[in-house]
Amino acid sequence: MQRFNLNGKVAIVTGGNGGIGAGIARGLLECGAAVVIAGRNADKNAATVAELSVLGPPVSAFMMDVTDEQQCHELVRESVRRHGRLDILVNNAGIGNGKLPQDITVPEWHAVMNTNLTSALTLSQAAYPEMKNGGGGKIINIGSMASYLALGHMSAYAASKAGIIQFGRVCASAWAKDNIQVNTILPGYIDTAMTQKGLQQNAAVHARALARTAAGRMGAPDDFAGIAAFLASSASDFITGADIPVDGGFLWGV
Ligand code: NDP
Repeated sequence: MQRFNLNGKVAIVTGGNGGIGAGIARGLLECGAAVVIAGRNADKNAATVAELSVLGPPVSAFMMDVTDEQQCHELVRESVRRHGRLDILVNNAGIGNGKLPQDITVPEWHAVMNTNLTSALTLSQAAYPEMKNGGGGKIINIGSMASYLALGHMSAYAASKAGIIQFGRVCASAWAKDNIQVNTILPGYIDTAMTQKGLQQNAAVHARALARTAAGRMGAPDDFAGIAAFLASSASDFITGADIPVDGGFLWGV
């Protein structure tokens, strides 16, 4: 269907070198967009570019840290230099630290906030003039079930993921007149490096998360290809400020 076609569009996916970000990059490439994946790890960047380059449209990597404001601006500048424009920004890079509110230190709090929330501000600010001057754009933020659910050991993580929903709504409201739509995807329990690490630390959490996922399985990075392509395409032009669970029924599970 033509309205899902992303030919000629240019996307940035932070944390696109693995996990959910790689699944999103795949979906955008499959619909024709050129994609720049951004991450800190050069080996992961190169491996993912090699894997995704068979899809056809240009895919390249940019090594950067989303907590560094200058590097965020450089990522946008370099993507525009490579492809001439910027249409789609996916703020996906994220970390957690599993700390209870009484235990987390202020530096640990800031590390999570800077990676998961402040980076979305910095990158959205950097992307805004390019999208506005290009006639519009799509910003896709990545939240979590922790955006809604208050899990004690996820103090900074849950606060950052609740914040990103509201920040996305604010941008959606401020930039609607510029034809920029901003939405948030809320992943359920997804099989990635992040959850594999958690699984090794606490098998009981894994069992509980899986038990309340009605689909009866963990999600896969590939489960994010379709929703990302939809939210990046003109098919979703009247959807903005929304938060959309992609969770196999986790949210309303028991
Ligand atoms: P991964 O750990 O597989 O991926 C995280 C990605 O973020 C990596 O590509 C990593 O790249 C990148 N990243 C982290 N910190 C930085 C940084 N400072 N600068 C640049 N890149 C960075 O986890 P997921 O794929 O699971 O997570 C992706 C998103 O989905 C996150 O926002 C996460 O919170 C969210 N999410 C995941 C869920 C799950 O069940 N897996 C559930 C709900 C939300 P590099 O290694 O190169 O730094």
